[in-house]
Amino acid sequence: MAAAKKFVYYFGGDKADGTRAMKELLGGKGANLAEMVNLGIPVPPGFTITTEVCAIYNNSNGTLPAEVKNQIESSMRRVEVEMKRTFGYAKNPLLFSVRSGAAVSMPGMMDTVLNLGLNEATVAAIAARNPESGRFAYDSFRRFIAMYSDVVMQLGREDFEHEIDRVKGVRKIKNDNELTLEELQGLCRSFLRIYQKKANAAFPQDPWQQLYSSINAVFRSWANPRAETYRRIYHIRGLLGTAVNVQAMVFGNLNVRSSTGVAFSRNPSNGLNFFYGEYLINAQGEDVVAGIRTPQQISKMMSEQWAKDHSVTPADRVAKFPSMEETMPEVYRQLVGIKDKLEQHFKDMQDIEFTVEDGRLWMLQCRNAKRTMMANVKCAVDMVKEGLIDEKEAVMRMDPYQVDHLLHPFVPPTVKAKPLAKGLAASPGAAVGQIVFTAPDAVAWAGQGKRVIMVRLETSPEDLAGMATAQGILTARGGMTSHAAVVARGMGKTCVAGCGSLTIKNKTATIAGKSFKEGDWITIDGTKGVVYEGQIPLEKPAVKGDFETILAWCRKFKVLGVRANADVPRDASVAFGFGAEGIGLCRTEHMFFEGHRIDAMREMILAKDVKGREAALAKVEPLQRADFLGLFREMKGLPCTIRLLDPPLHEFVPHDAKAQTDLAAIIGITQEQVAQRVKDLHEENPMLGHRGVRLGITYPEIYNMQVRAIIDAAIEAKAQGYNPKVEIMIPLVGKREELTFSKENCIRTAEALLRRRNAQVEYSIGTMIEVPRAAITADEIAQEAQFFSFGTNDLTQMGCGFSRDDSGPFLRHYVDIGIYDRDPFQSIDEGGVGKLIAMAVKKGRSVNPRLKCGICGEHGGDPTSIMFCHKVGLDYVSCSPYRVPVAIVAAARAAITEERKVVETRRRMLSSKL
Ligand code: PEP
Ligand code: MG
Repeated sequence: MAAAKKFVYYFGGDKADGTRAMKELLGGKGANLAEMVNLGIPVPPGFTITTEVCAIYNNSNGTLPAEVKNQIESSMRRVEVEMKRTFGYAKNPLLFSVRSGAAVSMPGMMDTVLNLGLNEATVAAIAARNPESGRFAYDSFRRFIAMYSDVVMQLGREDFEHEIDRVKGVRKIKNDNELTLEELQGLCRSFLRIYQKKANAAFPQDPWQQLYSSINAVFRSWANPRAETYRRIYHIRGLLGTAVNVQAMVFGNLNVRSSTGVAFSRNPSNGLNFFYGEYLINAQGEDVVAGIRTPQQISKMMSEQWAKDHSVTPADRVAKFPSMEETMPEVYRQLVGIKDKLEQHFKDMQDIEFTVEDGRLWMLQCRNAKRTMMANVKCAVDMVKEGLIDEKEAVMRMDPYQVDHLLHPFVPPTVKAKPLAKGLAASPGAAVGQIVFTAPDAVAWAGQGKRVIMVRLETSPEDLAGMATAQGILTARGGMTSHAAVVARGMGKTCVAGCGSLTIKNKTATIAGKSFKEGDWITIDGTKGVVYEGQIPLEKPAVKGDFETILAWCRKFKVLGVRANADVPRDASVAFGFGAEGIGLCRTEHMFFEGHRIDAMREMILAKDVKGREAALAKVEPLQRADFLGLFREMKGLPCTIRLLDPPLHEFVPHDAKAQTDLAAIIGITQEQVAQRVKDLHEENPMLGHRGVRLGITYPEIYNMQVRAIIDAAIEAKAQGYNPKVEIMIPLVGKREELTFSKENCIRTAEALLRRRNAQVEYSIGTMIEVPRAAITADEIAQEAQFFSFGTNDLTQMGCGFSRDDSGPFLRHYVDIGIYDRDPFQSIDEGGVGKLIAMAVKKGRSVNPRLKCGICGEHGGDPTSIMFCHKVGLDYVSCSPYRVPVAIVAAARAAITEERKVVETRRRMLSSKL
């Protein structure tokens, strides 16, 4: 008989069924629990129900197969033997925690249920063990009733919290651990009544019923809206579901020799190699994260630093907030040893959860730590120096979507404004915005184009969508490991957490005694942990230090060139500073819009004949020449692709009567004549209209003027000692003959000027591929072009048939329901537009093997699209100047990923032969 499929994996003692390699099946948490057991680290025993079971459960209307139940029950027996306790046995009960855990960490799913297995009989038995255990038993029970009600039954927490606040109010106490045994017993009774009222049923006393309800709730939580939002924001796709980890409880709230904490092997905010974490004596894990009590630091050094930052005197620190290194030195040493072992084993910064029960240390979780990008860079460079990882691995650790977090604005040191209040520097960067108090308000205001700061007492997973749209987050409660801090760091949002002087009531915040209403402006600095009143002008940072080291490694490994889209010398200078290897697109029309140039352009459009047009263009020519010279000088001999005029002429003329009258006065015609011309230029579909090369064909004098300005500027740049590499680009070509016509004009003009000046300039002429017909006939067009640059904005618009100006609302819906994985204007639609690109590259190079191919649409700065560009063999990508570092990292990762794939394929082929 075939062995039954394994659905439940045991871990405990010194051997686990799973390993770290089984993340897909056991989830990250389950796989790492197994790995820790196999490494000989003390872990409370338990079992992991696989992600496959989640898929089965959700696809079968919420039923668990009998085989799964059999395996759960036999794993339970093993835990009972190991813990020498029995699940549901009143005399010597065994309690469990139940946690979700998918292959990718997902804070949007079900929270943890602790103390499962408690009921009126077991709680009484535990309470009777010794004089210390009564408080502990009823404290655990009241937590379990509230958690089970909230997390499993979805009854909410508020009523329970109000009840605790009421009891604490009567006694005038602040902390939960000051509640007496009698008060805790009273709370349990009132909690059971609240449950009965809200659930319309008695609280389940049967531990097995508690367990199965909790397991089912975890599986259901995979599909809850919070989890779905999280997967959508982070593009998490293709997972089976979540695993469930059922683990024997150990108790950090047993007595004063017990504690619980979370820690990072290095500082997750700045990456410095100091053991960094928080713990609470006589508490359970939820207390550390919830920010109800002020967590204490693990190491003495950090504790002293914390005291300084919070103006706590040394004597007060030792008396009220001592470090674990001081209170439990032996356990602290053991914890440091485990942290080192885990870092060496996983070769990455670890985030660990632990509990000390009556002096004995247990590890509850370890995972690669979520950290700020700044910390990631520092940690990767340090680990290369320490010999833990190599340069390629360091590059692969850079999430290119997060690279621009390093380019976050900051409050310049020259700012004199005094901070209003201080909190924790939970996630770096600075942000300016208007105050909103709820996540839905943040989403709504941001939707109207407003910049907002979300101000909350604390955040929870429901706030995710609001946090994603806010500029920054300010909270009153919580430490460095609070929800707000962890999520903000992951998103690269500025966050100041635990701002003690902040209170909120009825959409009014009081910060350090000053009151703020919704819509008031504040500035928060998450690097320093301070809050300012009003709007502080922020600055953008430059690339330096460890980040520069990473970028140097990236340049070594990448194959794709990285250029920038820059229209004016100022942009070119930023791009060069970030390491751009050329300009991939200069949209020359932007030069026409600046200052008074628009008047000359309008005069050209309104001219009656060629002569009039040329006279008007002659006014623009010297201005364009000066701009081009500026570009060539900034780029110091690197290639510059300059695109000839693209937009339709109607974009340059005024549409309201007043402006038309003003223009008529400037150029000496009547307002009616201006109005008539504007009417003539009107097009129903301007994006498909008289623009790009079509203008160059009907008004060749425009392109001729631009070519003269470009070549003239290049001659001048050469004379000044620069060595410009000029690439003239003709836009919107769909048919070879369009390019032939325009190109010949350009060459005639350029050569005539060079002859007249008796000069030589290196220039090439190419085209954009942005009309589907051009991609399809690329072998014809390539005979006329020295380079192709894919204009994927238009190619997506025309290839998919989506207007780039107003398809946003329905495309968002398309992405939400999975018709497209990502917005095709942000990330190349590989299955459609991508095929056009791949085909055009192949066809183009088949007739012109030296054809240079690049991309200059928005996709050139999108990491996923850059991977695609690498695969189809483009020579370079071009993106906005501030995205150049992002593109450099993405290009390096693309090259290393491909290389690793080749090695892997060869390894597989070899092993199949052996
Ligand atoms: C494009 O279409 O991708 C492009 C770069 O040109 P523009 O955005 O100016 O139309
Ligand atoms: Mg275009």
